[in-house]
Formats: sequence, structure tokens, C-alpha cells
Amino acid sequence: MAMLELDGLTVSYGDLTAVDGVSLRVAEGELCCLLGPSGSGKSTVLRAISGFETPTGGRVLLDGVDVTDLPPNERDTSMVFQDWALFPQQSVQENVEFGLRVAGVDAAEREARARETLELVEMDGYEDSRPGQLSGGQKQRVALARSLVVDPDLLLLDEPLSSLDRRLRETMQLELKRIHDRVGTTMLYVTHDQDEAFTLGDRLGVMDGGELVQVDTPETVYDDPTDRFVESFLGTTN
Ligand code: ADP
Ligand code: MG
Repeated sequence: MAMLELDGLTVSYGDLTAVDGVSLRVAEGELCCLLGPSGSGKSTVLRAISGFETPTGGRVLLDGVDVTDLPPNERDTSMVFQDWALFPQQSVQENVEFGLRVAGVDAAEREARARETLELVEMDGYEDSRPGQLSGGQKQRVALARSLVVDPDLLLLDEPLSSLDRRLRETMQLELKRIHDRVGTTMLYVTHDQDEAFTLGDRLGVMDGGELVQVDTPETVYDDPTDRFVESFLGTTN
């Protein structure tokens, strides 16, 4: 059974159909990328999965359960954003503990799980730092820890590395792969950067104007684009 299933997901804003009949299955433990230019509907798909957007059509299933009408806090998803969204007044430790505090986890377990997750993202030793004292890459590691600490069924990542410079972005891509290999959390990773999508994804979905136009392994998408848009977006000539 798929961890995530989108069945004809559609989101319209008045006359604009931002997401147009997207169907996608992501298996448990998979790292699936959604690749597409700005405005193609990627973020809207993630918001509909996490429950911050109400679809105008179609369904969202998590682990076989239809969650389309459930509020965000009743879905076992967690989101990582490009702009980190850390609490600037709180320490790294407090930031990472946030989701556990909301879930009512007791202090001793919060502390232990936050410590373990900070080790995972190689930020142990920074527990007492404030976000403002960290570099962009370090902030993104903390943001990742804050999402992973609650052990979500599905981690949604919305262009989390796009504000980093190229070298750091490549380092963090490898880091993310290492973390994914280690924890095995199912991930849906949104990006407009094709190199990133090809590096990271077990599978890759290409979006154009709200539609999912091709889903396959990076190799197949590259070698055998089934769609004009995919072909031109990837700059291939076959
Ligand atoms: P992407 O993440 O791929 O850049 P988005 O999902 O943010 O694309 O947006 C898809 C389309 O939907 C764009 O045309 C955008 O302007 C529009 N859109 C997104 N959110 C809203 C909203 N809350 N109200 C109206 N239009 C929106
Ligand atoms: Mg977006």
C-alpha cells in the first residue's frame, strides 16, 4: 500500500486551476521529487497534502486512509520550508522540541529525542545557540531536525535548499540523502532545480501548469521524456 496517494487532486482559485487532477503514489520509505518551474503548482500540492489547503476536487490518502477532510493536526505529515521558519527567540534545543511539546511529550523524552535528532543532522553541540547565530546550512539542518523529531509518516520539503549557495546546496543534498537512508522516512521533495531532483529522487514527477505530466525514475525521465514540456524543460533533444 502506498504511504501517500493523490487521486485526481485539484485545487482552484477562482478561474485559476493551480493543481489540475494530480494522481501520484509514493511508497513507504521512498524519496520522491516533484520538479517544475515556478508557478506550476508544487507548493499547492504540498499544502493540500498537509491540510493547509482545501482541494476543490480529488482525494488525499495517507497510509490508505482518506484524510482529504481532516485538519492539519490530524495528519501525520511534517513540512520543511525554504525559509527555515525557526523561532528566532528560542534556542536550537527549544526549536527542535517544539513539535514534541505540542504533542504533550514529557520533558525528559523531549530532551532525549531532540538530542538524538540533532546528532542525526550533525548539529549536536549547538543546543543552546539561537537561530541568528547559525549559518544558512546550519539553520536548514535544525529545521530538518525539528520536522524529523516528531517521526512523521510523511515529510514534505518545499524547496528547502533553494536559498543556499550552490556548493552548500550540493553538500546538503548529500546530507539529506544520508539522513533519508538512515531514518527511511517517506519524503516528497519539491524543487525547481532539475540537478537537485535528479540527484535526490528515487522517482521524479514533472509538473507543468498544475498538471503532473510524467512520473518515473530520473533515468527514464531523462532518457525518455513522454511530453514536449518535459523534453524542453530538461533541455534534452531526443
Ligand atoms: P510553485 O510552488 O510550483 O511555484 P504554487 O503552487 O505556489 O506554484 O502556485 C501555483 C499557482 O497557483 C500560481 O499561479 C500561483 O500564483 C497560484 N496560487 C497559489 N496560491 C494561491 C492563492 N492562495 N490564491 C490565489 N492563487 C494562488
Ligand atoms: Mg513553491
